[in-house]
Amino acid sequence: MILKLLLVGAVIYVVYRLFFKQKKSYTPKKDSHNEAVNELIECPTCGVYVEVEEAILSAGKYYCSSECVRKAS
Ligand SMILES: [Zn+2]
Repeated sequence: MILKLLLVGAVIYVVYRLFFKQKKSYTPKKDSHNEAVNELIECPTCGVYVEVEEAILSAGKYYCSSECVRKAS
C-alpha cells in the first residue's frame, strides 16, 4: 500500500515538474532566431546572416553588402 502511494506521489511530482518546467523554459535564447527583436536574413551571395536593418535590399532580396549585390547581378 505504501509503495502504491509512493508511486502515485512520484507520478504526480513528475507531472507537476514537467508542467512547471514547460512554463518556465520559455526564456528566450540568444542564439536562436529572435524575430521580434532583430530578424536575420541570409545573404544569397555569400551566405552570411545579417540583420534586416543592416542589409541592403536589391531586386526583392536582402544582401549583406553592396559588394554582394554587385556579385549577384
Ligand atoms: Zn553577402
